[in-house]
Amino acid sequence: MRHFPVFLDLNKRRCLVVGGGEVAARKVQQLLRSNADVVVVAPRAGPDIQTLEQQGRVSHEAREFRDKDVSGCALVIAATADQQVNSRVAAASKAGNVPVNVVDNPALCSFIMPSVVDRDPVQIAVSTGGASPVLARLLRAKLETLIPATYGRLATVVREFRGRVKQRFPEFRQRRRFWENVLQGPVAEMLFAGREQAAIQALERELENAAPADLKTGEVYLVGGGPGDPDLLTFRALRLMQQADVVLYDRLVSPAIVELARKEAQRIYVGKQSDVHTVPQSELNEMMVKLAQQGKRVLRLKGGDPFIFGRGGEEIEELAAAGIPFQVVPGITAAAGCASYAGIPLTHRDLAHSCLFVTGHLKDGRLDFNWPALIQPKQTVAIYMGVKGVDVLQKSLLEQGMQPGMPAAIVQQGTTPDQRVYVGAVSTLTDLVAENEIKPPSMIIIGEVVRLHDKLSWF
Ligand code: SAH
Repeated sequence: MRHFPVFLDLNKRRCLVVGGGEVAARKVQQLLRSNADVVVVAPRAGPDIQTLEQQGRVSHEAREFRDKDVSGCALVIAATADQQVNSRVAAASKAGNVPVNVVDNPALCSFIMPSVVDRDPVQIAVSTGGASPVLARLLRAKLETLIPATYGRLATVVREFRGRVKQRFPEFRQRRRFWENVLQGPVAEMLFAGREQAAIQALERELENAAPADLKTGEVYLVGGGPGDPDLLTFRALRLMQQADVVLYDRLVSPAIVELARKEAQRIYVGKQSDVHTVPQSELNEMMVKLAQQGKRVLRLKGGDPFIFGRGGEEIEELAAAGIPFQVVPGITAAAGCASYAGIPLTHRDLAHSCLFVTGHLKDGRLDFNWPALIQPKQTVAIYMGVKGVDVLQKSLLEQGMQPGMPAAIVQQGTTPDQRVYVGAVSTLTDLVAENEIKPPSMIIIGEVVRLHDKLSWF
């Protein structure tokens, strides 16, 4: 990060703008919004600055810039059309350790000005580090549409209540929880809908009724992180990820997704591999109970969907027994994600009327399936964890009467930039894995629908 973001308090501080044209006037306006004490130095001032001077909002000194003008200034902006003057302003400011911005000349700047979404008192500043002001503007436009104008009112109301909330809830963690409830609940909704009085009354009630003890209990969020692409997270997953105190994640959760959890949250890797259990399941369950009992909000982040070959059920059984509140957030399971991103519809009116999700994980070197159910015609079979025991899988499928030529696909690291799709038949599964050195995580999809991949693949 080349530039350090800060917000300056310019209230009644002397700020110098060198230049009298339109660009200078725009900068003056920006500074005035922060209640700065603005001095304009320029031999001639354009109509905008003249008007501001007549209104008594700026003082204009009609003369050339002198080096000593910068002394005592909180900041300086050079906005003249004369690059020599601009350079002199920059040099004098730097010599005097005064922050300086030269419009459209990043090389001469000691600070740059961001694009701003103004929801006073909320300010969102966007910078591309000078790389692309246009990109910053586009981003700003996006944010403008995302953030209701009433956010400013929300912040103002919160500010009015801050002192009392602090008195009522002396512990930081309780306060944070209180505000998170308020800012994501009916109070905020009422404000967004323009019902300010009702919102303030509701906030009064919450302040009276919220029990400090309730704000102290921990909670566990069992969240499905989907198959890899962070875009496939649900809104709820993202929201809970943003309010967690601790994140427990394993190998299947892509780094890009772990990255989206709250910055301050403690991250604990509890990775499991099919035969190396880094943290045994019982220890993990215990850990979650303990953390929640300490009042923490624990995000248990799992790949795909927590209730599909994810042991999600086992993990929350213990929580339920210990009386710890929890929520489960579904995720896109690997079969669905891989199928979509490989252009293989899991069901199809002509080709597959049902779809079976099974695990290919071997138990004592064997697969424990209900074979007749698996061999049904017009059915797609999605096999999780099937790559390691693929030879046993292929042999058993053929022995049980599956057509050798039945189309089969293997999707490796589905939905991620490293996704690979290999297509063959049931009789060539083992060869496919060996020849292409296919590794987990990979999804095996068997059925006539695999034929559609050629036509429908898009990713
Ligand atoms: N709960 C998870 C599954 C966990 S079992 C879910 O709902 O998706 C782990 C298996 O899921 C892996 O061995 C692999 O077969 C499959 N898998 C998970 N992510 C995958 C991905 N991005 N691409 C292909 N297969 C994946």
